Amino acid sequence: MKADIIIKNIDKLYTLKGPNRPRVKDEMRQVGLIEDGVVAIEDGKIIYVGQGQLPEDIKTDETTVIIDGRGKVVTPGLVDSHTHLVHGGSRENELAMKLKGVKYLDILAAGGGILSTVNATRNATFQELYDQAKKSLDRMLSYGVTTVEAKSGYGLDDFDTEIKQMEVAIKLGEDHPIDVISTFMGAHAIPSRYKDNPDLFVDVIKNEMIPEVAKRGLAKFCDVFCEKGVFTVEQTKDILETGKQWGLLPKVHADEIETLGGAELAAEIGCVSADHLIAASDKGIKMMAEKGVIGNLLPGTSFNLQSGKLANARKMIEEGVAVALSTDYNPGSCPTENMQLIMSFASIMLKMTPEEVLTAATINGAASLKLEEEIGSIEVGKKADIVVFDVPNFEYIIYHFGVNHTDKVIKDGKVVFSK
Ligand SMILES: [Zn+2]
Repeated sequence: MKADIIIKNIDKLYTLKGPNRPRVKDEMRQVGLIEDGVVAIEDGKIIYVGQGQLPEDIKTDETTVIIDGRGKVVTPGLVDSHTHLVHGGSRENELAMKLKGVKYLDILAAGGGILSTVNATRNATFQELYDQAKKSLDRMLSYGVTTVEAKSGYGLDDFDTEIKQMEVAIKLGEDHPIDVISTFMGAHAIPSRYKDNPDLFVDVIKNEMIPEVAKRGLAKFCDVFCEKGVFTVEQTKDILETGKQWGLLPKVHADEIETLGGAELAAEIGCVSADHLIAASDKGIKMMAEKGVIGNLLPGTSFNLQSGKLANARKMIEEGVAVALSTDYNPGSCPTENMQLIMSFASIMLKMTPEEVLTAATINGAASLKLEEEIGSIEVGKKADIVVFDVPNFEYIIYHFGVNHTDKVIKDGKVVFSK
């Protein structure tokens, strides 16, 4: 074996070694730390992980890239498993109204909120959406993110815009170092013309959109915003069950604002993840743990909305829910691409330990995209998606918040970002 890249003398190598499945309870605190670690990479894959010197059967030559990990931390590439990456426009113009206390529904009535993003996305060309999302992906990569999920949902009943969003996500996944996983989320809001009869829109999603998305291979997952005033539990179930029949794996925006039973529904229909969960009931959390539904938490959104309400991460972890963390990057409720900041929020606001945070942002994020066999830990055979941080230990990233600690990012066995 001849290594393409070697990272050696790593002060703290967090491997996340363990079973290729969502980690729960105490497993979330087992981060597989190796001091004086060494990693070897060949053909995009990890071929050796250990301590001290490389074994003799791993050869190097003048083409081998040697990275010195002295004084550094190495982790698996971060996984941002819930974003609304592809969209037109931005909404900083609403900030002044929000600061004055104008309610979201009044901003919406004034043509703002999600509707303004829907308009901007409908009016943007493929190239404009691509360029804007690419800038975001570049930023994400610089923060150590190597895999990103991207949802449609700013076209709504304008199916061409939904398709355009998913095609942009797929094309970026091909062109950009970051792997982009596409999710169909036509059920993101009730379009104005279906306001008085949302069931008609549910029928359109089920009968026209989902079959087309599946036939054209535009998405891996199907997601629904299950919330008071958006889609009911029944409608959500209807859409996600149809998606399942067409091979789209179910995810759900659940119990973000009201305790509607989204967590219970996620367990009942076997969602891969239920996301937000700020108002999830105790029963729903228990059911999710029993059925192995991942709880994908988005504390950046809680921070930005300042509602004072937070997902109960401690309870979820104690009950055995595998917790993942994501930015929820979107132009309204959480306009940041910075996963490191989200990891600080998770620890400071949700009281997750640094080890739990690291697990949530790597292997559990990978599992919430059904990629736990390929990524999420630094183990022989897995993709060489690896981040070198210029910090003395992982805790430091969380503690020294709001700035970028990335030194290098390796994606598919290539150095794609260097400070
Ligand atoms: Zn979202």
